[in-house]
Amino acid sequence: MCEHAEKTESILAWYDAQAREMPWRVPPEKSKMGVLPNPYHIWLSEVMLQQTTVAAVRKYFLRFTSRWPDIHALARAQDDEVMAAWAGLGYYARARNLLKSARIISGELHGNFPKSEKSLLELPGIGPYTAAAISAIAFGEKATVVDANVERVMTRMYNILEPLPDCKPKIYEHATALTPPDRAGDYAQAVMDLGATVCTQTPQCEYCPWAQDCMAFVRGTAVMLPVKRLKPKKPTRYGIAYFVRNSRGEILLETRPDTGLLGGMLCLPCSDWHEDTPTPAPPLAANWREAETIKHTFTHFHLYLHIYTAEIQDAAPFRGEFRKVVEGSLPTVMRKAYQSGISTLGSFKG
Ligand code: SF4
Repeated sequence: MCEHAEKTESILAWYDAQAREMPWRVPPEKSKMGVLPNPYHIWLSEVMLQQTTVAAVRKYFLRFTSRWPDIHALARAQDDEVMAAWAGLGYYARARNLLKSARIISGELHGNFPKSEKSLLELPGIGPYTAAAISAIAFGEKATVVDANVERVMTRMYNILEPLPDCKPKIYEHATALTPPDRAGDYAQAVMDLGATVCTQTPQCEYCPWAQDCMAFVRGTAVMLPVKRLKPKKPTRYGIAYFVRNSRGEILLETRPDTGLLGGMLCLPCSDWHEDTPTPAPPLAANWREAETIKHTFTHFHLYLHIYTAEIQDAAPFRGEFRKVVEGSLPTVMRKAYQSGISTLGSFKG
């Protein structure tokens, strides 16, 4: 047996015994018999998992699949229902692209998911990693799946000392050589599970099926890998969010434009967010009071948001509309702002 096949066999044997249970997966005892998972479940979970942990995705996945059990049901959903159901998961462009893709698959493709990486890449919001993951896991195609877990495992297995992201092509080459023609989906999930549970930041090499072959383990370099190029410091921006409540206990909200940060989401009206002092942009004339300042960190910047509150009888806002708020339908930063407004004004007494 060749060196790569031996490695593949040992990690698949480990996966057969140690696979993590996830609601979208088919367990190894079934996948070994050729049972493939529901492609709708794999597509949905992989889009949710972009930049998000398995623990956070689990409950959203279950909520989505019970509300929209198949691709046709999701394609028929209203945009604002899906955006509200996605609230709190972040990276809201994913939800907008999810809907666009659902409508393409349900309509133009008559419910048939594309199988190859190339055709998956044509769907909105599907990048190389997600295309490979869906192709391998949902359809058993021999696609090379490389996420951050796989990068960590490969840099250690082959003692790659070059920093990320420069060494990505090298990682991809090794990962491709190891991907087997059969059980490609299980293999991909096995390496990801190994990275998530054993080959972690502080690796537990004594439990690793690849310890004998691992160059970093032999050389004692594992904890130093992967090397990462230093990232520039995150900038800080400042803004104002306006929390205003009317005599019916409704809060003024507005839907952000479809493109850009928090695109398509319901939010408290805000000023622009700048690295300088924000320019006030109240959504109506009121006796505004400054409450606290909350902090939220996005991928590319820290945000300090000053919360201004007001209570009014009735007034027409310059923008947005007064609504009863379902807190779970707001994105995380706006939940913090909403909570801050409530704790300043107190609960609505009616
Ligand atoms: Fe990671 Fe240790 Fe296994 Fe190497 S031996 S792949 S460092 S867990």
